[in-house]
Amino acid sequence: MEGGGLFAARQKNLLEFLSLLRDLRVLEVSGFADAADRVHLNLMSKAKRPGESLDLIYTAKQRKIKETVRDFAEAEISHESEDEVLSKGLLQKMSRLNLFGLQLPEEYGGAALDTVCAAICVEELSRVSASAGLCVSVHNSVSAYPILAYGTEDQKRKFLPDLASGKSIGAFCLTEPNAGSDPSSIESRAVRDVNGDFVVNGQKAYVTNGGIAGTCLIFAKTGDDSRSGMSVVIAEWGAKGFTRGALEDMCGMRGNPVCSLFFSDVVIPAGNLLGKEGGGFRVAMTALDAGRIGIGAQGVGIAQAALDAALKYSNERVQFGKPLSAQQTVQNYLAEMAVNIEAARMLVFRAASLKDAGKPFTKEAAMAKYFATKTAMESTTTAVQIHGAYGYSRGFLVERYFRDAKVTEIYEGANEIQRLVIARSLLEELGRTRL
Ligand SMILES: Cc1cc2nc3c(=O)[nH]c(=O)nc-3n(C[C@H](O)[C@H](O)[C@H](O)COP(=O)(O)OP(=O)(O)OC[C@H]3O[C@@H](n4cnc5c(N)ncnc54)[C@H](O)[C@@H]3O)c2cc1C
Repeated sequence: MEGGGLFAARQKNLLEFLSLLRDLRVLEVSGFADAADRVHLNLMSKAKRPGESLDLIYTAKQRKIKETVRDFAEAEISHESEDEVLSKGLLQKMSRLNLFGLQLPEEYGGAALDTVCAAICVEELSRVSASAGLCVSVHNSVSAYPILAYGTEDQKRKFLPDLASGKSIGAFCLTEPNAGSDPSSIESRAVRDVNGDFVVNGQKAYVTNGGIAGTCLIFAKTGDDSRSGMSVVIAEWGAKGFTRGALEDMCGMRGNPVCSLFFSDVVIPAGNLLGKEGGGFRVAMTALDAGRIGIGAQGVGIAQAALDAALKYSNERVQFGKPLSAQQTVQNYLAEMAVNIEAARMLVFRAASLKDAGKPFTKEAAMAKYFATKTAMESTTTAVQIHGAYGYSRGFLVERYFRDAKVTEIYEGANEIQRLVIARSLLEELGRTRL
């Protein structure tokens, strides 16, 4: 009860705090001229241009957001069963905290936070429930954000308020049974009918939030097999011919309703084309760059949960007459985890800061995603090891962290693909310096 009271107080504080952020933003905005500078100034001191240097100490605002989301997750999500975490009731509570409108402008009902603060929210949710963190990350960064970045004003007014309030959950639908790492090989097709509307046929696989999504970005071929033959349309749940498959029975991330979506002659209005016809590949890549910051934050959250559990357990479990934590080997494990987690968090914040500053961040987002999710996998494996047989048993949370961590190395671009992205960027930079 006490925890609930504390949470209620913090929740109220967050709402007051978010309105303070808005006021601050208005004040700070006035000093800068171009559009990129007007975005997300609230985290930076007035003396600096955003993104020029990263504030390596949490500001009071960031700490407040961190504590509020942590308290929320611990009070409202930690007791939920793994498979049922995203109940309607919980989604409503998440919506009250504005977790579905993290970076959307206030005019659409969003919290207008910057990417660093959004990453903090995803990290803290994922520390308690990777499935809830995944829901929020995908909804905000690869569903709502592309509409904000590429949508017409009509599309923004039509879709963003419901996304911000969580009335409609977002999904990003690129993967197909025969197209994963190579999205240009998708087979779904969107063909114009006599009215100019799109008739969509195809299947999308492994769609995060698929079982509850109302607003789905569907990538489909509208032209030839080149990248410029791909477009993205916004499909709304309820359209005739739009159906869902059974929920995937996955190793981890079991609380997220991941499933296939099927399109059989689904008519999607011409006005739901997002960006230019033939511009779908570019939209997908822009969205994934942003999404990788969120998945990096998710990796940090899972890894932090594993470290917290390992610290506690190793201090309590006695073998050979002393706690495990008194053994130097175990201390080495704990230290290694802590260093990697902190480094991963800094990579996430750096990529987020660059995005907020309107600077290129593709390489940095790939680095953050790669290192943070690798850290999640390594830290959860170590945490299981420190727990011994108990750690390998259902009922001990580290076992779930271990299963949840694995997929972070696979989705939003498997880590092999992240390394390709990083290496390609390095080689391009080298080419530029030689010119
Ligand atoms: C829980 C979950 C949620 C997901 N959510 C979504 C979602 O919301 N939307 C969506 O569109 N997709 C989603 N996906 C799909 C995910 O993005 C893909 O699984 C991912 O892109 C990898 O594709 P694939 O599984 O087909 O693997 P493949 O592409 O078949 O790759 C298999 C392996 O080969 C490696 N590989 C492939 N190509 C290369 C290469 N050129 N060089 C080196 N190695 C390579 C990969 O890295 C991987 O290790 C989700 C998947 C899961 C499991």
